[in-house]
Amino acid sequence: MSKFFLFALSFFMVSLASFSQNSFNKNKVIAHRGAWKANGLPQNSLASLNQAVELGCEGSEFDVWMTSDGKLVVSHDSDHDGIPIETTTLKELRKHRLSNGEKIPTVEEYLKKGMKQQGTKLIFEIKPSKISTERSEELAAKCVALVKKLKAEKWVDYITFSYEAGLKVIELDPNANVAYLTGNKNPQELKDAGFFGFDYNIKVLKDKPEWIKEAQALGLTVNAWTVNSKEDLEWLLDQNPDFITTDQPELLFEILRSR
Ligand code: MG
Repeated sequence: MSKFFLFALSFFMVSLASFSQNSFNKNKVIAHRGAWKANGLPQNSLASLNQAVELGCEGSEFDVWMTSDGKLVVSHDSDHDGIPIETTTLKELRKHRLSNGEKIPTVEEYLKKGMKQQGTKLIFEIKPSKISTERSEELAAKCVALVKKLKAEKWVDYITFSYEAGLKVIELDPNANVAYLTGNKNPQELKDAGFFGFDYNIKVLKDKPEWIKEAQALGLTVNAWTVNSKEDLEWLLDQNPDFITTDQPELLFEILRSR
């Protein structure tokens, strides 16, 4: 066996090991729309994603809409700078900058930026269309296709208020992690439909705390939004959720360090 062959083989083995290793942070902290608040950054900007990565969050959440010409963009609201996203072209939307000078990110730009690191997962929220359920499903299909094209699967967990969009993602990528946001399905219903978990308003979980253990017993993950007060963060941590979505990742890290 030649030295070169041995060298090539060991290089291949090391590459394989590093490829299969899951190096994402494990600390439950999901920055809601990136880590924007403490530094006055625009929500859902590349800068707020970068800050979530710098903090070492387990995940950074972002919201996705589809423009009138079928392009995927990152924005929380259904409008960008007062312009409705679903009935406006990407070119028109890009004329209006975020407060830090960034253009509204396309999902492709956002994913490519997030894929430059392997500590923080990208929590990809598919927004329900205001036009039709069919458009929500079309958006979901485009999201899955883009994630597949970029080979971004290991970075992405999906969340959505649209049950139909969630089912569409599960149908198109049975290995995708999809959590449901609306709070009107019990753990067994989500399990039966193939969901990865739930990500419910903390008010739902305070009302039905038994769902936390029921979900985890079924192998589902538990996440809650948007948990910002010290009191709520402490209460939820006592329930041992899998993730906590917050506008205040710095505060959550501080509480975790003190425990
Ligand atoms: Mg969101």
